[in-house]
Amino acid sequence: MKKLDIQAIRADFPILSQTVNGKPLVYFDNGATAQKPKVVIDAITKYYQEINANIHRGVHTLSQLATDAYEVSRNTIQKHLNAKHNHEIIFTSGTTHGINLVANGFAALLQPGDEVMVSAIEHHSNIVPWQFLCERTGANLVVIPMNEKGELILSEFDRLLNEKVKIIAVNHISNALGTVNPIAEIIEKAHQVGAAVLIDGAQATPHLRPDVQELDCDFYVFSGHKVCGPTGVGILYGKESWLNRLPPYQGGGEMIKEVTFAKTTYADLPHKFEAGTPNIAGGIVLGTAIDYLNEIGFEAIEAYEQELLAYGTEKLLEIEGVKIYGTGAHKASLISFNIEGIHPYDIGTIVDKLGIAVRTGHHCAQPVMNFFDIPGTVRASFAFYNTKEEIDIFVEAVKKAKQMLS
Ligand SMILES: *Cc1c(COP(=O)(O)O)cnc(C)c1O
Repeated sequence: MKKLDIQAIRADFPILSQTVNGKPLVYFDNGATAQKPKVVIDAITKYYQEINANIHRGVHTLSQLATDAYEVSRNTIQKHLNAKHNHEIIFTSGTTHGINLVANGFAALLQPGDEVMVSAIEHHSNIVPWQFLCERTGANLVVIPMNEKGELILSEFDRLLNEKVKIIAVNHISNALGTVNPIAEIIEKAHQVGAAVLIDGAQATPHLRPDVQELDCDFYVFSGHKVCGPTGVGILYGKESWLNRLPPYQGGGEMIKEVTFAKTTYADLPHKFEAGTPNIAGGIVLGTAIDYLNEIGFEAIEAYEQELLAYGTEKLLEIEGVKIYGTGAHKASLISFNIEGIHPYDIGTIVDKLGIAVRTGHHCAQPVMNFFDIPGTVRASFAFYNTKEEIDIFVEAVKKAKQMLS
């Protein structure tokens, strides 16, 4: 495995050489959104300067160029996820859109008394759409509980699983705690009772390369902006058989075969789920971002980020009063913590003055915060362009914040 040339990688990201509040930026909010390399920024400009046109519509040259670039990106993403067919790759506006699309579709398939299963460590986007679904259909929401380390309790999952469960929605990696969930095992067991599984991959795709055929998941969703791509674009992977069973989500242009006032027939996949003019530049450039990450290599990214995680965990725990939430055996490069007696927001505010960007609050996962009986945490989430030197700066800043606040 090749070793990362971190200084060369950092030079790819113009924003990283900025100062914030007079200090060199230390960007540790990658769990919220990743920074963009110059190839991605340039590709957006190139699209608007050279080929901007609507896709799948005109016979004119620019429209064909734009359509080709969009479809090339779809193929890049198909290959990246190892999906069987390129029409199993649906462009969405992001993870939230992908989950809502699937949850909405399941309304046509559920009966009162059926069960929809989520886990105790989900992002609100992987809870609320399923609550809507339950309200609409009379299905019941069932929750896989977690333990004090922030790991799902699989014996409880086994106990809760039964043939009434029609769909299970879990994240691959938790955005609040960093836990890597045993999704392969969950998927295998779910299929034994005939339940479909949707994996929220928003927090996993920046760190690893999922193989949807090997996982055998039915749906896998992620957001472009967390994998160094633009905002407003994302991916829903769905098995062909499931995407054919689900009704369309939105009606409009591009998703139809034939429209009369008496009856409309729908277009084939993937267009059935791609109503209206999409984020064309975003879709094209998402492929650029995925190519960029694959060129660096996910094996090297994972190994390096694990080093950052181990180093950051060790250094933070040297500060008295620090408590880390999410202490399971399998974690991504994300540390959620508090200092005894100090509100996370106050730490975030002080370190910001020192040029450091971290997330504070409930991280769109209030049930996780309720479980630990805390208002929120400070969350430092590392990407492959971060360094141990930045962690040192951060740890010193946290010490300073602790001094000022206690
Ligand atoms: C960020 C995130 C989401 C929501 O993604 P959007 O891009 O806001 O749609 C959902 N789940 C997890 C685990 C996330 O980290």
